Amino acid sequence: MQQYTITIHGGAGTILKEDMTPELETGYKQGLEDALNAGFSLLEKGGSALEAVLAATRSLEDCILFNAGRGSVFANDGSQEMDASIMDGKTLMAGAVAAVRHIRNPVELAYTVMTKSQHVLLIGKGAEDFAALHGIRTEPDEYFFSPFRYEQWKKMQGTNEAALDHNVKLVDKKFGTVGAAACDRYGNIAAATSTGGMTNKQWGRVGDSSIIGAGTYANNKTCAISCTGHGEMFIRAVTAYDVSCLMEYKDLSLQEAMEVVVHDKLMKIDGEGGMVGVDAKGNAAMVFNSEGMYRGIRSSSGISDTKIYK
Ligand code: ASP
Repeated sequence: MQQYTITIHGGAGTILKEDMTPELETGYKQGLEDALNAGFSLLEKGGSALEAVLAATRSLEDCILFNAGRGSVFANDGSQEMDASIMDGKTLMAGAVAAVRHIRNPVELAYTVMTKSQHVLLIGKGAEDFAALHGIRTEPDEYFFSPFRYEQWKKMQGTNEAALDHNVKLVDKKFGTVGAAACDRYGNIAAATSTGGMTNKQWGRVGDSSIIGAGTYANNKTCAISCTGHGEMFIRAVTAYDVSCLMEYKDLSLQEAMEVVVHDKLMKIDGEGGMVGVDAKGNAAMVFNSEGMYRGIRSSSGISDTKIYK
């Protein structure tokens, strides 16, 4: 019988148990559980992988703890610019947005670009105008504001550095680009990713999360992948697509291909981070080269789990 599965992440980085409070840990776990519920309940009802990754990613965007949608990090001008993408492994259709402000759920806008435009990637003001045209929900600055993210940015403001959340030295560390990959009961797969990017990034900077092939990729023939980590390296390594290539051209399994890319190829260029993925048989894998990665999996085979540390 075709197995259906969803796997999600909420960012990778130097996530250490000693830096976490029990309350925060519970909050993160709850955020992951909520997202698994949102995605998996659709798969159970016969929904598509595409619908499942959209719902799971939207749920993670709504959780202020994660660096996507509400709670996104700040760019060097104090704005919150977000990137997101989604891809359907059945049709190879894809949609993405970059450097958008005030969009409540950037992944929904990416989905709308995929389904209602002739394009794959819209950016900035053009993407926001397109959102308005299609009734995509926006919110004021206050909605996205998190005191913690603001403090992180204040520590870096005026420097030339941009950092993954974990490089900002704070007692109360938080991380969190989000994403999901799913396989439905028809053997179709899909992936989605959403982020606020890197703290104190140059405004206008676009990371891997909105680049199809880098942060997100899906193809029924091979795999559906969502990445998190230092975006510049993930773009240079064409990370998500490379996993697909290793499966297609070298016949590696999902797990094997992800390990080559994360532990070998990315490491060689100091690309810290990880990824989650599925194949069309419903196998899932979660691989990272950092201290931790917020992650979760649920499958029709009975597996259900959320994890944070190594
Ligand atoms: N990959 C994201 C970016 O570079 C950051 C992250 O994964 O936390 O924009």
